Formats: sequence, C-alpha cells, structure tokens
Amino acid sequence: MRTSEEYRQDLFKMKPNVYVAGRKVKRDDPLLRGGINVISKTFDLVDHPDFKDLLIATSHLTGKKINRFTHINQSAEDLMTKQLMTRKLCQIVGGCIQRCMGCDAINALSVATFAADVENGTDYNRRFVEYLKEFQNRDLVAACAQTDVKGDRSKRPHEQDDPDMYVRVVEMRSDGIVVRGAKNCITMASIADEIIVVPTRAMTERDKDYSIAFAVPADAEGVKIVARTSQLRAPKGLEMPQGEIGDDENMIIFDNVFVPWDRVFICGENKFTTLAAYLFALFHRHSYTGCKPASTDIIMGFGALIAEYNNVYDRHNIREKLVDLAAIAELVFAAGIASAVKGIKTPAGTFIPNEIYANVGRRHAGLNYYHELQILAELAGGLPACLPFAEDYLNPELRPLIDKYIKRRKEVPPENVYRCLFGISNILCSSLGGVMAVAGVHGGGSPVMEDIAIWRSYDFEEKKRIAKYLVGIKD
Ligand SMILES: Cc1cc2nc3c(=O)[nH]c(=O)nc-3n(C[C@H](O)[C@H](O)[C@H](O)COP(=O)(O)OP(=O)(O)OC[C@H]3O[C@@H](n4cnc5c(N)ncnc54)[C@H](O)[C@@H]3O)c2cc1C
Repeated sequence: MRTSEEYRQDLFKMKPNVYVAGRKVKRDDPLLRGGINVISKTFDLVDHPDFKDLLIATSHLTGKKINRFTHINQSAEDLMTKQLMTRKLCQIVGGCIQRCMGCDAINALSVATFAADVENGTDYNRRFVEYLKEFQNRDLVAACAQTDVKGDRSKRPHEQDDPDMYVRVVEMRSDGIVVRGAKNCITMASIADEIIVVPTRAMTERDKDYSIAFAVPADAEGVKIVARTSQLRAPKGLEMPQGEIGDDENMIIFDNVFVPWDRVFICGENKFTTLAAYLFALFHRHSYTGCKPASTDIIMGFGALIAEYNNVYDRHNIREKLVDLAAIAELVFAAGIASAVKGIKTPAGTFIPNEIYANVGRRHAGLNYYHELQILAELAGGLPACLPFAEDYLNPELRPLIDKYIKRRKEVPPENVYRCLFGISNILCSSLGGVMAVAGVHGGGSPVMEDIAIWRSYDFEEKKRIAKYLVGIKD
C-alpha cells in the first residue's frame, strides 16, 4: 500500500494542469495542501489500531491486502465496514474525506461492464478488471466526474444547442476515442491521480455519443482542472487539527482528450452507461450514510460542548435540540446499515446496496443539513459570527481582556471557550462551512434525485392494497 508521502510525491510529479485563483499551479501549491492533508489520512491511518481493520481490505482479484478505497464490495459486511470507515474518517478530518468518489465509481463500473459484456459480448469487463488491478496495486486515488455542466436543464444531451454540454465522443480512432465536454463540482479532482468519468443521467438511443465511461490520468493531455479550494485557518499559536484541513471542488474541462481503448469501459451502449450512472449514484448515496452522520456528529459535539461551557447543558431546550441531532445522525446511519443488509450480490460478484434504504437515508440527510446548522447556530449564540480573529486573540495586549470577556463557567479555561467558538465559526461562518452546507444538500444528487429513485422503485401499489383491504374495497 502507498504511504501518504508517496502519494504526495506522485502528485507533485504530475504535469501542471490545475488553475486556481488566477494561477496555473503545480500540485504542491499551498492552496491544494488542505485537501491533500485530508486524503493523506486515508494512507496514514492504515497502521492505526482503531482504523486498520476498517481501512485494510483483501482484494477479491489478487488476495492481497489493499486500501478499502480501492476495494470492490463483496458482501453486506464490506458495505457496512465502508460505511463505518467513512463515518470515522470524516470525524477525524472534521468534514468530507473526499476519497469515496473513486471507490464508488469502480464499484459501479465493476457491475455495469460485466452486465454489458453478458448482453453484448463486449470485452469491457476484462479491460476494467485490468485497470482495477493497477488501481489496487498502485493504491490510486480517483475523482469521479459524473455531473455534466448540462446547459439547458429541460433538454437531453442530444437536444442541446451546444453539443458539448455533456461529455461526448468527438472522434473514434483505431487506438481509442477523443472526448470533449466539461464536468462541474468534481471533488478533489486537482489532488487525484485519476479521473473516472461516468454519465450524469439515463441516456437514450439518441444519446449514444454521450454514452461513455472511461478513466484518464488527472494530468492527461487536454484535461484542464479549474479548482476552487477552501481552507480552514488557525494561525501559529492556536494549532488545531481543524486548521490542517481543506476541500477542493473543480470544474474539469476535457478539451479533446484522447482515451486509449484499454481505459474506455463503455462506449455507445446507452443502456449500460445508464446503469453505470445509476449505480455510481447508489454507491455514493450509501457512502453518504457514513459521512453525513459524521457531519452531524461534529455539529452535535460542538453544540453539546458550547452548552456545557455555558452551563446550560442539561436544560430542556438544549436537550431537545441535541436529541433531534442524534436522531438524524443515527437514522441516516441505520438506513445505510439496512441498505447493506438488504443489498444484493450481482452476477459480477459485486455486492450492491439496497436502493430504497440508501436513497431514503441520503434524502433524510440532505433535507436536514440546514436544519442541523440552525440548531448549532441557536445553541452557540451569535459569537461564532462575531468572534475576534485568532491573530487578535493571540495579541498579548488583548488576550487577557478577551479571555476575561469570553469566559463562561468558571472551571472552563477561556481558551477552551475561544477554541470551541472558533470551531463553530468554521462550521457556520467560513467559506468551507458554506461549501459543506451546499454539499449536504446536493452532493451525491439533490434530494429530488433521491425522490426520483424512490418513486421508481418503491411499492406504492402495495400501500394502496392495504388501504383497500382496511375499508373493504374489492376490485
Ligand atoms: C460540494 C459539492 C461536491 C460535489 N462533488 C461531486 C463529485 O465529486 N462528482 C460529481 O459528479 N458531482 C459532484 N457534485 C455535484 C452534485 O451531484 C450536483 O450538484 C447535483 O447532482 C445537482 O446538479 P447541479 O449542481 O448541476 O444542479 P442542477 O441540475 O442545475 O439543479 C438545480 C435545480 O434545478 C432542478 N432541476 C434540474 N433539472 C431539472 C429538470 N429537468 N426538471 C426539473 N427540475 C430540474 C433541480 O431539481 C435543482 O433543484 C458535488 C456538488 C457539490 C455541491
């Protein structure tokens, strides 16, 4: 397995094709550091006693020990371990662990390529498995680029005025394909080794040029990554784990990018790219049943701590709010467990989560994120929005005065109060906090996408039968 140092060195050797805040940068740029620190945890913690059983899996291909982020789920146990690993890692980094996208993409492709081959006699799965072996052996980190820019939202890919609104094949060659288009909102693309591309939505017969799934190195010729990074800050003298983390979201432009056939996993079979899109969303929503409870854990932790510092922890109004948060976190987590237990083994051997439970879990989390922030804002009072900057708090002239005036319960050192409010401010008032809030709603698919998935597969007919039975309607 790779170490975080090897991961960093591999990134730093890549061609500079990342643009951030007006500059074209190499991947050792300080603006990318926070995200790299987050991904590094997925390497560093493989030897940690609390994490090794979660982070290390056994490859079903080679029997070797591999990082779970490169593993294809073989059982309900695997899905539950991934979910718990995600929750615990997100707690450690105080937010999104960012590496699940690539993991969810390889799981989706393991099923979709197999199904395509069974029906059409293609050799997509063989290509994919070769890629997967390399992915596992090199312990690669991949972004999954699903969300196309989509142009006019009322139109399908082939109906758009500009045909490049969804990533498409513009040239078929004997040695591969050339693709063009752009993907939006792609987490950690600028700090990934690889970009795995799947379509955003169901594709029709007329969208065959858009019906593609492939992988490219993140610095492949013609790939331009426009990053928007957010960093939590903690100045020297006020070190804290939160200060080391960051997030990066990216627009990826595929400007006539050549993809050799061995990296093209589906090309033209709209039924199976639709399956790949659907399965990526399904695996990713299951991942959300791990990461969203962690976000709630963090919000809950800060809410409880500030209430304790304020000496009102056991008051009725506080208890109600904390219980509300606990109920959200654990219901979402329970939905993930149910989704694993009720999952199914596909003919490809991959174990997929149950659709209904993964979607209701993700939906519940998405609908509640701003509600959770509101609870934290209520519990914390207004100071997170008005807190003196840490540089001023650390100013020896001001420090004793600020300490005097932020003091709460007498046993609690004022610096702890300051740190707690600083952490809450990072969640409620920072640029990264804002990004995480929008991600809470839209990441993994907006709540309406979960509605569509639930509507498609939930058995409402059976509910009508119950109603008819209860009132004696026979038809
Ligand atoms: C922080 C963050 C990280 C993300 N990370 C990733 C990632 O790593 N990989 C990835 O692929 N994606 C990622 N996403 C993208 C995410 O999946 C999308 O934001 C989400 O699917 C919504 O798509 P959109 O942003 O294009 O919104 P839009 O599709 O523009 O939706 C906006 C609104 O319009 C409505 N709407 C759109 N089309 C229709 C229609 N035809 N009929 C009726 N209503 C419609 C929607 O319901 C929604 O309310 C991320 C998003 C965020 C915010």
